[in-house]
Amino acid sequence: MGRQNVPRDQWLELGAECPHCGERVTEEMVYSWRPVPDDPKLLLLWCPDCGDRVEINHV
Ligand SMILES: [Zn+2]
Repeated sequence: MGRQNVPRDQWLELGAECPHCGERVTEEMVYSWRPVPDDPKLLLLWCPDCGDRVEINHV
């Protein structure tokens, strides 16, 4: 699964799109803000529709 590059302000305001089903995922669906200490830009969310994991590079 590819990681999306989304500016932080943009996804906080508009949400991001699940690459699997296209559902909009927002800040409420954040699973982990920084799951990997070595990779501080990585953000994980769960799609409420298909249950897929959404990876964002919030830059
Ligand atoms: Zn989905």
